[in-house]
Amino acid sequence: MALQEKLFHKPAPAAELLIQGAHILDPRVGIDAPHDILIRKGRIAQLGDPGALDAEATAPAVQTVAGTGKHVFPAFVDPHVHLRTPGQEYKESLDTGTAAGAAGGFCQLIAMPNTAPVVDTVTVLRSLAATAAQQARVPTGFLASITVGLGGSDLSPMAALADTGALGFTDDGKPVSSAGVLRRALQYQRLAGRVIALHEEDPTLSGAGVMHEGAVSARLGIAGIPSISESTMVARDCALALYENARVHFQHLSCAESVDALVFWRQRGARVSAEVTPHHLTLIDDAACDLDTRFKMNPPLRTEVHRQAVIDGLRSGIIDCVATDHAPHAAYEKEMSFEEAPMGTTGLETSFPAIYTELVKPGILRLPLVIERMTAGGGLYGLPIPRIEVGAKANIVLVDLGSSFTVGAGGYASRSENCCFHGRVFSGVVEMTIAAGALVYERGSEANA
Ligand SMILES: [Zn+2]
Ligand SMILES: [Zn+2]
Repeated sequence: MALQEKLFHKPAPAAELLIQGAHILDPRVGIDAPHDILIRKGRIAQLGDPGALDAEATAPAVQTVAGTGKHVFPAFVDPHVHLRTPGQEYKESLDTGTAAGAAGGFCQLIAMPNTAPVVDTVTVLRSLAATAAQQARVPTGFLASITVGLGGSDLSPMAALADTGALGFTDDGKPVSSAGVLRRALQYQRLAGRVIALHEEDPTLSGAGVMHEGAVSARLGIAGIPSISESTMVARDCALALYENARVHFQHLSCAESVDALVFWRQRGARVSAEVTPHHLTLIDDAACDLDTRFKMNPPLRTEVHRQAVIDGLRSGIIDCVATDHAPHAAYEKEMSFEEAPMGTTGLETSFPAIYTELVKPGILRLPLVIERMTAGGGLYGLPIPRIEVGAKANIVLVDLGSSFTVGAGGYASRSENCCFHGRVFSGVVEMTIAAGALVYERGSEANA
């Protein structure tokens, strides 16, 4: 089975579209200038100078979109989302989760297996893929669990799951605490193939912690999660990866020592990659000083030193990509006390605007680099990376960098509203998303509902 066939989505009509005069930016292809872009039968048919392609020249009629002053990027890829299916559809479904992805400009999503039941058997994975083929608005792939039931001891049938379409393996939500179990999984990777992705924390260090261990947690008298809970596990598992010559991906890195460990072990040849979330790039622990549970996530928001380290890591490429870790929860769940509320924030609808507003506009990260990092996540799992070139399937996003919006003011496409950026004013409005050749989102259109 080719890896492209491991993304599932509901059938949709192929786009017939002419976007006139938008600034097209695809750093991989080397385009960074205004162009007309013609999409025929869902593929990029022509790229021309502004004004070169008009509706008459491109007859029979296609929908024409005025793009002057706006930008077209390759659509974004999110290698880490929780779509809560099967079992927790009151938080999110494949329909609503992928609608949130479409609204955020994404053309590929990779969903985590910590569902109910856990994606640890061929049967569960098959039925999930069948549901995605009926409901997903954006091509969606699935990771299966490393251990049965996320129990941390017995390995899932990794080879059979890989044959059925699992893009990789993770126990996300939980670490693989036992080095011996992880070592067996890495050895089994030789048979199963696929990337093993890790949520890194040491439960004996995280303890009952609910936020970053530091001055803020001390002042609030709340149990903290120290940065070394993550970094000691990253260092351990880099060593294991190198020893077994295995391919490992680190999920949602949040602290400076983890970035240091990656630098150290990559120099020695470890085949490891990493992701970082928009919230760890743009927020720190003092956001939670009022005990607003929107700011409770795992790993927790850390301090400025750690935030700067993950920004530097993303800039240098030691951290390969951005991932939202979109983690929807129902309002009544998040309305509990800070200690009791579940961890997680939604993120699909705010990923690009948050990074653009907080990091690109102030000149901290360059726009082409952000586009590259926001489209790289699928490639780490062997998926084709979206590119803007003639002949390619259209996977593009139209963004108005000059306009702004208030997060949540118009509601969310996600079923849940626990967004840590709620109420913030962000620049960079996603106007249109085309995924796998189909128009999946158009701002203000009834078709999104
Ligand atoms: Zn996680
Ligand atoms: Zn996660």
